[in-house]
Amino acid sequence: MTCPLCSRGGGEVLWQDAFCRVVLADEADYPGFCRVILHAHVKEMTELDAAARTQLMDVVYAVELSLRELLQPDKINLASLGNVVPHLHWHVIPRFLDDAHFPDAVWAAPRRTGRQHTVDHLRENLATALRQRLSARPETE
Ligand SMILES: [Zn+2]
Repeated sequence: MTCPLCSRGGGEVLWQDAFCRVVLADEADYPGFCRVILHAHVKEMTELDAAARTQLMDVVYAVELSLRELLQPDKINLASLGNVVPHLHWHVIPRFLDDAHFPDAVWAAPRRTGRQHTVDHLRENLATALRQRLSARPETE
């Protein structure tokens, strides 16, 4: 079986370097839903050495900060499941009290018709914020 994250990008790429990429997920109820995807096919965080774990999480935190700045969510959810696609990726999900699933996980049954929270030019603003936050990384030089 081919891995969907090895054979395809996994979404619209907002930022990437030689190590990983940040994509905007195409989730109707969640316009700011991002994923941080390691380029290499690695299953578990503990298969990475300590420096690589930190490198990956620093990108996750840059996405979290950028989403907080742009969308002011009530909560950020960070999740790494990989049961269906065992290729390291982190979900970074801005959550709101009136979204479709709150306070449950976004994968649970919806509780209501959720309100979408977005801003004009979300994609461009996210890409710019990530470039600014991550531009000091040596991989991008
Ligand atoms: Zn893969």
